[in-house]
Amino acid sequence: MIERVCLVHYHEIGLKGKNRANFENRLLANINHALKGSSIQRARRISGHLLVEDQSGFASNEMAHAISRIPGVARVSLAYRCPQEEQVYCDAAVRALGEVSEDWQSFKVHARRSSTNYERHTLEMNRIVGSSLCAAFPTKKVLMHGPDITVVVHAVQGDVYVYADTGIGVGGLPVGTAGKVVSLFSSGFDSPVATWMLGRRGAICVPVHFSGRPMTSDTSEWLCQDLIEALAPSGVVGRLYVVPFGEKQREISLVVPQGLRIIMYRRVMFDVAERVANLEGAKALVTGESLGQVASQTLENISVVNEMVSLPVLRPLIGSDKQEIMRRAEEIGTYDISSQDAPDCCTLFMPRRPETHARRDEVHKAWDLFDHEAMIQELVDTIEYVDFDQCPSYKPPRSLWARHNELSPAFE
Ligand code: ATP
Ligand code: MG
Repeated sequence: MIERVCLVHYHEIGLKGKNRANFENRLLANINHALKGSSIQRARRISGHLLVEDQSGFASNEMAHAISRIPGVARVSLAYRCPQEEQVYCDAAVRALGEVSEDWQSFKVHARRSSTNYERHTLEMNRIVGSSLCAAFPTKKVLMHGPDITVVVHAVQGDVYVYADTGIGVGGLPVGTAGKVVSLFSSGFDSPVATWMLGRRGAICVPVHFSGRPMTSDTSEWLCQDLIEALAPSGVVGRLYVVPFGEKQREISLVVPQGLRIIMYRRVMFDVAERVANLEGAKALVTGESLGQVASQTLENISVVNEMVSLPVLRPLIGSDKQEIMRRAEEIGTYDISSQDAPDCCTLFMPRRPETHARRDEVHKAWDLFDHEAMIQELVDTIEYVDFDQCPSYKPPRSLWARHNELSPAFE
């Protein structure tokens, strides 16, 4: 019987030497988790690929598409699985080539054999399948170099897998192979993209959102949750922390010179985020900053905010234009949600003319105008969180509060 299965290809994992098995197992677990509730059987390893089977025997394009969004997946092929019988796999090759959606003029056959229990040599397989395809597509050309389509015929473990069309995956590394990061997460375009980028490089992401509540509605918090749901297929987020920040912003705005308000807000945000990172065992912070995009993102201002924390701050979008970021947001499915307007702490108590080149001594003077230590402590004490079942390698801290004293002397 002929079945349809998904063959998952990965490249970077293959480069990781001794870690290879770990990486493959992580990717398998992530695929199984992402497709939980669908009709797949467990994904498993097969000769340099991962194999994903559907209970019905017929994996679908939708399944292949869902797999292609999982970090670590370089390509996905919807393949025919046939017995090792020439006529059957030649017919499958004709079908596979006939189903290629793009316009094509030339092809070649690439036979592989990963099991020695099949007597045919790959050269013979190439010839046999090639002649079936030439008979079925008489107007098309065979090209050994640079064909439009390559038909792969792969004999492995008693079966032959045949495919012609391959979908491109997001690439990167499986989430859970690169540690944990805390990302400063707003409902704008940039930070969800920045978060996804770190997830694609294998990091488990823990977003922290500062809401304007109680001075604003909680709309931005719902949008953040929607954004995380939209990122679900990539499985990068386990928990969202929400910090109601409105009241404290008001306190800051009452005592700090107008132009320096945003810098004060951001220093508080960075400090709170770093404490969450310590609690979570995260090794870096992530922001969606892009150089010069808004007043707070000049080198001077980045520097006076950055000095609040000792963890590395990763800014994957620092050199990106808004256009590129929005294009990426469309690809990862966050664009429409980020397009919705919501007041959050960024829109609250904004100065008419924010300082773009803050002087360090003035920043320090303003910082001492309010009891920042007590404020930060209170914010951490009132932090809330929402869990998401999309990242199987996310492990929450043992207890949110039990480790406070140990991790942050400020809580003593
Ligand atoms: P974004 O599109 O990510 O909101 P932005 O262009 O609006 O970015 P800013 O508002 O200056 O730029 O924010 C810069 C970065 O600071 C954001 O990318 C994000 O990492 C962080 N940030 C901004 N607002 C918040 C918030 N309300 N909660 C948590 N982090 C935030
Ligand atoms: Mg913003």
